[in-house]
Amino acid sequence: MSEKTYEMMWDCEYCSTPKLLGVTHRHCPECGAPQNPEKRYFPPEDQKVAVQDHKFVGADLNCPACGHAQSAAAKCCANCGSPLGDGKAVARQAEQVFGADGQRIPPPGQQEKKGGGGKIFAIIGVLILGIVGFFVVRAFWTKAAGVEVTGHRWERQIEIERYDEFEERSACKDVPSGADIVKRSKPEKVCKTRKIDQGDGTFKEKEECSKPVEQCTYKVLKWGVARTEKEKGDIDDEPTWPKVKLKKTGKCEGCEREGDKRELYIVEFVNTDNKDELSCTFSKEKEWKSYAVGDRYAGEVRVMGGGLDCDSLKPAK
Ligand SMILES: [Zn+2]
Ligand SMILES: [Zn+2]
Repeated sequence: MSEKTYEMMWDCEYCSTPKLLGVTHRHCPECGAPQNPEKRYFPPEDQKVAVQDHKFVGADLNCPACGHAQSAAAKCCANCGSPLGDGKAVARQAEQVFGADGQRIPPPGQQEKKGGGGKIFAIIGVLILGIVGFFVVRAFWTKAAGVEVTGHRWERQIEIERYDEFEERSACKDVPSGADIVKRSKPEKVCKTRKIDQGDGTFKEKEECSKPVEQCTYKVLKWGVARTEKEKGDIDDEPTWPKVKLKKTGKCEGCEREGDKRELYIVEFVNTDNKDELSCTFSKEKEWKSYAVGDRYAGEVRVMGGGLDCDSLKPAK
């Protein structure tokens, strides 16, 4: 990380002399007008003037009496003699960031306006808001409905895992032991230059570079879900787990084992107002059986996208 200090530039607003220097020319050499810190700007790359051994004492202060900008090191205003005690710091130019190619990188959230690019971002923003809003409304906008139990279904699932070779990618330092590295690649480092107005007629140029992390593609033997075995039935069938046939057991390439198990108990309803078919899924068999066919409940139905809010069900009076 390197840091260098250069002079800001300013143009005289009285005689229009351009490209005066922020530190060297506190006054215009042509007409004697004082430098206006608000007119300072970052000079073009090929006209930068370095400041050697710059001692930064803080941004210039505006004299509270006459408004002239004075070095923060001064005690009294050189223009009117007032003490600078509670003078306010002058305005600074916004920081500028440049990529390695010398192109300016716009600050985040403020994309460069090129051929209506800003408009597109505004449209995307509105769309995202709309989509988020849609899901919020869909989840919470409900209305009361009467439902009747029409049936029961259950489903039991067992995930079958296979010990197999998988190809993955991560930072090389995170590769698991025993893995077979197929490819290593090191991304190029990315450098940025920051120009920071120090408010005293100078600006600081800082170079910041990312530390590229070596990436590895590797093959590793591990357990992964290969398939899911299912068993289904209704209320007359005693819920059972699917019969699992493992090809080979143990820990070998191609060996299989049982993974996560899930049991779903589904109660089917009909909306007595509009005949919509609805359902609720429970994880406990006992709760599922407590809903008898023909029983009526009062609950909340989602207005958008449909669906029953299963936590809202209460026996109908
Ligand atoms: Zn001038
Ligand atoms: Zn003054």
